[in-house]
Amino acid sequence: MFKSRRKFLAYLGAAGIPVTLGTGSLFLGSMKLEAHQTKVATPRPETPPPTLITNTYKAPELDIHNWDWQIADNLAVAKKTNRERPADLILHDHRIKTLKSTVSRLKRLQNHIGYGNFNIIGWDQSLKLAKRQSSIGAFEKAELDLIEEVFSSDADNMGFYGEKVVTQISSTIPRKEIKKIPGTGHYLFKGSSIKMYDKIRKDIGDDIVLTSGIRSVVKQVYLFLNKATQVGGNLSTASYSLAPPGHSFHAIGDFDVGKVNFGRRNFTAEFANTDEFKKLADLGYIDIRYPENNPFGVRYEPWHIKVV
Ligand SMILES: [Zn+2]
Repeated sequence: MFKSRRKFLAYLGAAGIPVTLGTGSLFLGSMKLEAHQTKVATPRPETPPPTLITNTYKAPELDIHNWDWQIADNLAVAKKTNRERPADLILHDHRIKTLKSTVSRLKRLQNHIGYGNFNIIGWDQSLKLAKRQSSIGAFEKAELDLIEEVFSSDADNMGFYGEKVVTQISSTIPRKEIKKIPGTGHYLFKGSSIKMYDKIRKDIGDDIVLTSGIRSVVKQVYLFLNKATQVGGNLSTASYSLAPPGHSFHAIGDFDVGKVNFGRRNFTAEFANTDEFKKLADLGYIDIRYPENNPFGVRYEPWHIKVV
């Protein structure tokens, strides 16, 4: 695909991917490695080809009788191929172990503090808690590196073109500004978010309910990395069904609604066929953040209510 190694490196540079020369490894967003990079004048010709990115993504075959999250995601990927997309960003094999241990540590953290609290927990608090609680265990260096690299890397390289709304991994959600919504395990920001939610319930009835409210950076990291484990460490594929950490508007006011007792189907296109969704649309609530065939590289989400 590239006529020369220099063209290839220029392409990586243009794509914002830091390159280490001489070791043959490619990483995304590592500050230390970038510093190293400036010292090296010319690439060594024997450098083996990088393995972090690849062009060989193949969408899995669809089985219509097995409709679930995975398949909804695959459909989104299939649709996305209409657009010019960058090469998939895939974690090196040796980091898959770290990916999995990070996800299970975050899961243990969630079990420890509870589902509701985990939605709004801050990064610093998470680190402290993990260290203190032997049932969670302190984050390992490799795990911290992975989280920081994913957080600080340019989402454009994953094929995600949405805006970054939280730029600091350590940003916190002020308790004074939020309110827990009874029976949901979720929180909403006081002001516009709660007003909109209350109005929706007043207009449509108790059959419509909050399914995901405020999600802190930590929660989004967990959801995103968990999705990444399901797709072999392919961060690009993960970003089609979940905004990468820092890019979710759930951190600043958007929320999801669903139909009571509709379970996981609330997060599939099936929700768009419910009476509740039709009422939402008729009443003009559906100013969807990510409409069908949107330019942001995100799947269509009829359940997501835009507030911000
Ligand atoms: Zn949402």
